[in-house]
Amino acid sequence: MADLMDYSDRVLLNEEEIKEMVARLGAQITRDYEGKKLFLICVLKGGFVFMADLVRAINLPLEVDFIAVSSYGSSTKSSGVVRLLKDIDKPLNDKHVLIVEDIMDSGLTLKYIKSMFENRSPLSVKICTAFDKPERRKVDITPDYVGAVIPDEYVVGYGLDYDGILRNLPELCVLKREIYE
Ligand code: 5GP
Repeated sequence: MADLMDYSDRVLLNEEEIKEMVARLGAQITRDYEGKKLFLICVLKGGFVFMADLVRAINLPLEVDFIAVSSYGSSTKSSGVVRLLKDIDKPLNDKHVLIVEDIMDSGLTLKYIKSMFENRSPLSVKICTAFDKPERRKVDITPDYVGAVIPDEYVVGYGLDYDGILRNLPELCVLKREIYE
């Protein structure tokens, strides 16, 4: 029988480690946004698993919405050309926006999304990414909240896909090279 772990070269973060990571971020965000109107905007599709866990680790009244973007390029590399497939429903003028993303790599996607929201004049815009590969950065952008810094390898699971699949893997794993090479 096929097993999702057959795609994994090794586990980078197990379920327990991810749980601790989310709890730490949730506590930090709860402290930082106390008394403020917090609006979490998840970047689909990769962010959905992290978003679902993160909102339940934040002890504040908050709103959520979702955007979908596609970046042109091969399935394992972002090209930096971002297309907005789904936008949020509401204006942002009285809100503190926190963008929730699965992973930051070159930073091109988030640079685009962050400036798009900044142009709508919210009270603030910050970024929370579950995973970060800072070595790969091509543009000057730093996430405000980072779950875990990871090495420059293609990872799957916890919302992150390879060719549309593997988002439901509960651990964060390095994809076996032989699968995409
Ligand atoms: P960036 O624009 O920062 O280069 O790329 C961000 C997007 O590229 C992420 O939202 C994600 O969809 C994809 N990406 C970057 N690195 C990885 C990775 O290691 N694994 C997966 N599955 N997607 C990645």
